[in-house]
Amino acid sequence: MQNIPPELRENPNVIDKAVKAELKPLIEQSDLKGMLHVHSNWSDGRDGIREIAIECKKLGYEYLAICDHSVSSGYANGLSDERVLEQFKEIDKLNEEGLGIHILKGLEADIKKDGSLDNSESILSQLDIVVASVHSNFNLSKKEMTKRLVYALMSPYTTILGHPTGRLLLVRKGYEVDIDEIIKVAADYGKIIEINSNPYRLDLSWENCIKAKEKGVKLAINPDSHRIETLGDVRYGVRAARKASIEKDDVINCLSYNDFMKEIVER
Ligand SMILES: [Zn+2]
Ligand SMILES: [Zn+2]
Repeated sequence: MQNIPPELRENPNVIDKAVKAELKPLIEQSDLKGMLHVHSNWSDGRDGIREIAIECKKLGYEYLAICDHSVSSGYANGLSDERVLEQFKEIDKLNEEGLGIHILKGLEADIKKDGSLDNSESILSQLDIVVASVHSNFNLSKKEMTKRLVYALMSPYTTILGHPTGRLLLVRKGYEVDIDEIIKVAADYGKIIEINSNPYRLDLSWENCIKAKEKGVKLAINPDSHRIETLGDVRYGVRAARKASIEKDDVINCLSYNDFMKEIVER
């Protein structure tokens, strides 16, 4: 029989699969080619875009998506439309200069109470990727919260649903949401769900990643870092993914830069 990776040994069917040689290679950290959902000092991160890009290049990444907070996250110095445009100029300049890594224009757009996305449509339409996340009004009923997230997933601007249940391990449970419905809608609309690698989040949880994979939903393993030291947190996201039998083909930031542009940004 095949060797069973330790992460899979809680799975009751794993021995059968190993006997039939049906176990596929699990994702490795070295499969990640892109660093997505990174905050800079434009919002509540500590470091400048240049510094982050140089660090990601050093870590071996082909591309980096800066996704600072959107305008409604005032507590986090969220970006107004004007500041997003200024940030575009800085990113264009750094890309022209050529740091050996492609810098993409992203935003972590707040999902407002009614499910609409923060900032204007004219800005949203110019971004390479949009991570849509809930940062407010956690106390809605399960029905209302599910409707809110479904509405956000249906937006043509949403690329990735960020930290989809809002849990903070040892601090708070996630908000009430019908995660099966969210996964189904993500599958229907071809949207990506994040594994947020912050060790307090690990959200989508590995248990729900199994459901996402069953429905064919692609995942993104993101650091949600606010300083360069925590870019490496993606290792925890990779571990959670492995426990859910995730392979590199299930994860969008395992795509090469050219494929990521074709399949995710320009689709
Ligand atoms: Zn967030
Ligand atoms: Zn974030």
